[in-house]
Amino acid sequence: MQQRNRDDRFVDLLLLRMNPPQDSIDRPYYTTGSIVSAAMIRVVILGFAAMMLSSYASANVTWWFAMISIWGIGIYPAWMQYQRFNDAVEKIETGSLCGACRHFNPTNQLCSVLDEHVVHPDAPPCEGEGWEPR
Ligand code: SF4
Repeated sequence: MQQRNRDDRFVDLLLLRMNPPQDSIDRPYYTTGSIVSAAMIRVVILGFAAMMLSSYASANVTWWFAMISIWGIGIYPAWMQYQRFNDAVEKIETGSLCGACRHFNPTNQLCSVLDEHVVHPDAPPCEGEGWEPR
């Protein structure tokens, strides 16, 4: 399957889509780090936009623009994406071998022994050989 180039991937991360692209099969497309980074970049861009707007509009308009856009465009989509990420991790934690293994790190959906992402609940990367109970 064709891999995305870096620019496409950067744009995808900034867009915070609700579903990862079809070609993200070997690792989680959105992680805690990518979600926080996208939110921070969005908030910075909106902060600059508010600063530019303050030269043309009243303080009241600028304030409302900043508050509503930072919440609606910066933070809320990232929060929704984070909920999706948590659902995926919860699915692995409750219904898979990796979820019951002491080497599974739910923060980044990673197997700490193999240093590999656990993507599918029914396909542990070690095929069960490295499993140890929690
Ligand atoms: S050692 Fe195996 S079972 Fe345990 S988290 Fe890693 S891949 Fe999953």
